[in-house]
Amino acid sequence: MVKKKPASFPEPIFVTQPLLAPLSEYLPTLAEIWDAHWLTNGGEKSLALEAELKAYLRVPHLSVFANGTLALLIACRALKLTGEVITTPFTFPATPHSLAWSHLTPVFADIEPRTMTLDPERVAALITPRTSAILGVHVYGMPCHVEELGELAERRGLKLLYDGAHAFGTDYGGIPIGSYGDATMFSFHATKLFHTAEGGALAIRDIQVQRTVDLMRNFGIQSEDTVSEAGINAKMSEVQAAIGLVNLRFVDAERERRSEIRAHYRVRIAAIPDVTLFEIPAGVQNSEQYLIVRVGSPGSPSRRDALQSGLRAFNIMTRRYFYPLCSTFPTYSSLPSSDPKALPVAHRVAEEVLALPLYGALAYDDVEQIADALEYVMASQ
Ligand SMILES: *Cc1c(COP(=O)(O)O)cnc(C)c1O
Repeated sequence: MVKKKPASFPEPIFVTQPLLAPLSEYLPTLAEIWDAHWLTNGGEKSLALEAELKAYLRVPHLSVFANGTLALLIACRALKLTGEVITTPFTFPATPHSLAWSHLTPVFADIEPRTMTLDPERVAALITPRTSAILGVHVYGMPCHVEELGELAERRGLKLLYDGAHAFGTDYGGIPIGSYGDATMFSFHATKLFHTAEGGALAIRDIQVQRTVDLMRNFGIQSEDTVSEAGINAKMSEVQAAIGLVNLRFVDAERERRSEIRAHYRVRIAAIPDVTLFEIPAGVQNSEQYLIVRVGSPGSPSRRDALQSGLRAFNIMTRRYFYPLCSTFPTYSSLPSSDPKALPVAHRVAEEVLALPLYGALAYDDVEQIADALEYVMASQ
């Protein structure tokens, strides 16, 4: 039975809203930058943020960057990747683009339906003599099959890199996510749980690799008279780092609030047929990066796009993370591994997922109103 039409929001509700503490919280830290007249190039704030993040994320080594994509590019270079890198098509474009920009060929492996991360069996089947690495994505903060991938990489002599853009503070059975693989990228883009407006980091296993990474993010400049690598400019500025130092004090409360909002959504979504909340399993610290639902039932065509446009009429702006699949982009669609027949799970999942608004400043009343609209749109289709 279709209920009474719920109210629309007067202003658009977006899928996220960046974590921002009161302005007064940032001002003392910014004042210190002004006093020091030091705006970038390994200043006090970026060094302090590196130290605090290394402790927070409990990783062996950590370097910060201007953004996450540059961090990933530098990781590819510092780890000396060549030829082919096996990765997932179900991700943000930055993941395969980092490979393409490094003159590496992405080889797309299908995902596993429960976690939506790389299926280790599919990865194993795609290894060739040209494969140098695996690049997994902890999509929505869901850990990849880290044990299987770690064992596979070890056995086949491959480097193992993770895109942990969604996995800030995630741990898996008490083990921090950034301690798996040779390196893990974190993004501190404004849309991420923890952010520095733009920014990113690499958690790195080997200190020698970190030394190379640190040179590469500053043009390869070793000293006044020695430039030892073909580096680039990927440094985080002091202003970014200052924002990060403050946000780090507020991030646990933001995550906690998001998890309470999730609990409200959970109750409502459970009562809506054909809409299923994507759950991070028990034993994994949820990064609360996104609230993802799958729309539809097995064997029937997805109703996701109709739901998205139906919600837009209520001023609720959802996102289809991640549709279209990266393997369908013109740059990659002619690769043999992009054949949709080889990526059935990824294609199905990409048709069904929808990110609903999730951020600390979202009121419970708003969640109820979003859920009312969701229920209404699904019932009226
Ligand atoms: C946000 C994001 C990136 C890119 O990070 P930037 O900091 O914006 O460069 C890469 N991969 C995934 C999965 C992301 O969500």
